[in-house]
Amino acid sequence: MEDSYCWGYTGSGDFTTKSATWRAHDNLKPAHTSWKFNWIWKLDVMPKIRIFLWQLCHKALPTKATLLQRGLHIDPVCPGCHSEIEDTDHLFIGCHMVKKIWDLAVSHNWISSQSLSLLESSVTEGLHNLHQARDQSISRIALLLWSVWKSRNAMIFANDVPQPMGSLIRAKRSWAE
Ligand SMILES: [Zn+2]
Repeated sequence: MEDSYCWGYTGSGDFTTKSATWRAHDNLKPAHTSWKFNWIWKLDVMPKIRIFLWQLCHKALPTKATLLQRGLHIDPVCPGCHSEIEDTDHLFIGCHMVKKIWDLAVSHNWISSQSLSLLESSVTEGLHNLHQARDQSISRIALLLWSVWKSRNAMIFANDVPQPMGSLIRAKRSWAE
């Protein structure tokens, strides 16, 4: 047999028993076989960014709202603005703290305001729409989302004061890697 197969269900493309079992199980439920975010694995960014996007689009990132839903007794209010619940959309686009990062990325011509406008209502739907539109900014937006998450974690776990420019620079550095 001449054909070669790329095993598409692990980040590396390698076959693993675990992913095969998961895939076989998934085959029992046809509705779940084609996840609309599978394009993430082909995005030209580092594997760690793809894994982050996978978690984000699976609504699996441990935001405060998610942890609360999982039964943890925590205060779900956003640590950045202290005024709204920290769910995925608030954390990445709604919070006035994070809007400064996006504004900076646009004013530095790193992403276009048109691309950013696709993210306005929902992060995950926005990413899907950017992919559908074959938007050139999608990798840069992915890096910024990842950088926002890193800044947020540094604020919570290391008491770092959020610096919008720092978040943009981190994303730009990852682009160059
Ligand atoms: Zn906030």
